[in-house]
Amino acid sequence: MHTAPLPAVSGAMVFYSQFDDYTAWRDAMQARLPDLRVVHGDEAHDPADIHYALVWKAPPGFFDRMKNLRLIVNLGAGVDSLVGREDLPAEVPITRLTDPNMARMMAGYVLFAALRYARDIPHFEAAQRRGEWAYRHPRSPETVRVAVLGLGELGACAARELSRQGLTVLGWSRSPRRIEGIECHAGMASLDTVLSRADILVVMLPLTPQTHGLLDRERLRRLPRGAALINVARGPLVDQVALTDLLRSGHLGGATLDVFEREPLPPGDPLWAMENVLITPHLASVAIPASAAEQIADNVLRVSQGLPPVNRVDAARGY
Ligand code: NDP
Repeated sequence: MHTAPLPAVSGAMVFYSQFDDYTAWRDAMQARLPDLRVVHGDEAHDPADIHYALVWKAPPGFFDRMKNLRLIVNLGAGVDSLVGREDLPAEVPITRLTDPNMARMMAGYVLFAALRYARDIPHFEAAQRRGEWAYRHPRSPETVRVAVLGLGELGACAARELSRQGLTVLGWSRSPRRIEGIECHAGMASLDTVLSRADILVVMLPLTPQTHGLLDRERLRRLPRGAALINVARGPLVDQVALTDLLRSGHLGGATLDVFEREPLPPGDPLWAMENVLITPHLASVAIPASAAEQIADNVLRVSQGLPPVNRVDAARGY
């Protein structure tokens, strides 16, 4: 088989993340684009050499003097920490990762957390701690209603997986969506109805000026008494003080929280000690070099040939 040689890519790529493995990403990129020079943001480099950036939460001023930057790749799905920064060169496209493996990892987390509630596992965990055989008859899955807020790359995948388990799934997004087996709703006018019908609420929205604080005290109170909340999106979507109060009062039965208003969640925060709360440190899903490097390499090639990149973020919309 004859494979055409890849066109040479000029300029270097700068990498920055405190959470992701630099050498794994560098090697994955260079396996696809052998000509591409990759440097870590902390290494000495000439900012004028940088044409591409692969970053997660780069420090303020990171992009200063990168006057030849042509593409910024957000090393994740949520771009809230990137859009609106003051050091971003105007007109440089921002793309984000939409990797099917990332969606599958996220769906796995959401499925675990939702089934844990649907099967009353927290009740058995508490009973075991007391050494009690506390039989509770299992509910039939279709009697459990799960509402998924956000039906994007990650939300739609999780909603489908929940539906495959026989749960009754409602979905909510900004514009109308059609997903087989999911009762889809769209727009602010329908949010209260969706909330009032959710035994389990899964938050999978991007953080934007429109969604910041969306789940305030009043909206959280619209959830049926005893409902559970799963937040795998961003902490500031939910009023954390109201959430803590409602978990304490029993209006909310439980919460599985992967994201918080402040991360790491500060020591001494009341959420740490609450029996009805499960906390994980922001890892519901992560970008995987072996599968995501392909789409980044494609975009680097596209941009180097003067083509627009795919998966471009709409900076005005914020996601
Ligand atoms: P997408 O951009 O693909 O989808 C976003 C969804 O939210 C769309 O359905 C969109 O509606 C909807 N939406 C956006 N704004 C509103 C609004 N104002 N009202 C109603 N619906 C709205 O995002 P992803 O699915 O890829 O990711 C979702 C979020 O998950 C990310 O932004 C990130 O914050 C978070 N995340 C968390 C991770 C973790 O480890 N905890 C890992 C990865 C991501 P429409 O369909 O009409 O556009």
